[in-house]
Amino acid sequence: MIDLPGRLFIDGTWLDAVDGATMPVDDPATGEVFAHVADAGPKDALLAEEAAVRAQEPWAATPPRERGEILRRAHDIILSRTDELAELITAEMGKPLAEARGEVAYAAEFFRWFAEEAVRIGGDYGVLPDGRNRMLLMRQPVGPCLLITPWNFPLAMGTRKIGPAVAAGCTVVLKPAPQTPLSSLALAGILREAGLPDGVLNVVTTSRAAAVVEPLLRGGRIRKLSFTGSTAVGKLLLTQCADTVLRASMELGGNAPFIVFDDADLDEAVDGALTAKMRNMGEACTAANRFFVHRSVADEFAARLAARMSALVVGPGTRAGVDVGPLIDEAGRRKVDLLVADAVRRGARVLTGGECPPGPGWFYPPTVLSPVAADSELTATEIFGPVAAILTFDDEDEAVRRANDTPWGLVGYVFTRSLDRALRVSERLETGMVGLNTGVVSNPAAPFGGVKQSGLGREGGRLGIDEFLEHKYVAVPVR
Ligand code: NAP
Repeated sequence: MIDLPGRLFIDGTWLDAVDGATMPVDDPATGEVFAHVADAGPKDALLAEEAAVRAQEPWAATPPRERGEILRRAHDIILSRTDELAELITAEMGKPLAEARGEVAYAAEFFRWFAEEAVRIGGDYGVLPDGRNRMLLMRQPVGPCLLITPWNFPLAMGTRKIGPAVAAGCTVVLKPAPQTPLSSLALAGILREAGLPDGVLNVVTTSRAAAVVEPLLRGGRIRKLSFTGSTAVGKLLLTQCADTVLRASMELGGNAPFIVFDDADLDEAVDGALTAKMRNMGEACTAANRFFVHRSVADEFAARLAARMSALVVGPGTRAGVDVGPLIDEAGRRKVDLLVADAVRRGARVLTGGECPPGPGWFYPPTVLSPVAADSELTATEIFGPVAAILTFDDEDEAVRRANDTPWGLVGYVFTRSLDRALRVSERLETGMVGLNTGVVSNPAAPFGGVKQSGLGREGGRLGIDEFLEHKYVAVPVR
């Protein structure tokens, strides 16, 4: 496994926290502590902010090609260390090694994509309609950024934010989730090796998020917040951004509907369901949360999905042949357990799974509940676990109405063989993304993000870099 100093990365240097504090990192497969890292406090965060502010001007002036080349080299280094990075992700987050390798490739691709975008920032030029003025439009880096990431994709959530920020010419302070600090520290080492100048990336690992983050948001020197996490925390941070009218991008929670029409190819729908539900043990913002299945095919779909789910092998992510690792921690597993108990109390049948296994680690078995009562708590809560909740519907209008009946709007999945219906329902779904006869939407080259309370802004794709650029209009008289 990669040898990490376990210290803060500030201004190109590995540092202990000013007050010497450290925090433990647990292996979710055992619940045991396997590493310690520095636990930053507010003073450390201010040092990181200072470094980012100092590095901003020279970094913005660094030729785009040079910025891109650094990201491209980092992409290559990440791929060359796929096995080591995958082991690190599995150790701190729990996902099976094969999935962790997939995350490494996905994470690296953000750097390659934004290395290519760095040289295509461009602008605009034209004569205004009155003929007396010209317009110059500049796209300039927004300035020092604060990036806050969750634990579920510890490497990819980092590259998805660092990639566009650095490509745009912004410096950053990254605060990863306390459960998974090691992947972010590994990224810092890789970017340094790739030639990133001191101060452009600073990583503060901390268990004191509120105390570390609030002064930066209210301080006036950070010019942009990019946050991925729960909607509740996103809302709180937006209120803190209000003080300085800080620009913010928010990738928040989801409550994805997965709609299976009676004309769907059921094999394809079950395959898609397995991916949309079980990727990352269900701990993904894109995870299918509510399966709406046409009444005429619901029993068949549920039986087939249950058969596939019960065949998945649960165990430590490091063990060969394991499909489903542990959940992130005890609180995450308790939440899933309580949601299942509530659904069962309201009449859901358990087709497979449904009980926490004994022994160490935060394992939860793949579970299928069908049919689920519409008022069950899990229909209004992000399950974040390997539980498929199946509900039935009778017609298209009802499916769309119920799918949209939620404050969230990140992604929806639609399975049908009818092109007309596929397009109609895609247009009517109140989500930022739709998976049409597929259970996967995430791709670094596509704009990822939600509507309603699932977020503000897009990450990845051509739009991703815009989140880190300001548009400046310059009026020039025609003489
Ligand atoms: P979370 O509790 O909101 O935490 C996310 C990050 O915010 C962590 O680094 C966390 O650190 C930090 N944080 C929490 N309270 C804070 C505060 N008061 N001030 C500053 N920072 C604070 O979410 P999570 O449980 O880690 O992640 C799961 C959530 O992320 C789910 O809702 C999921 O849908 C969402 N997610 C969304 C996307 C997307 O792209 N839309 C992608 C992945 C995940 P602490 O833990 O130390 O508080």
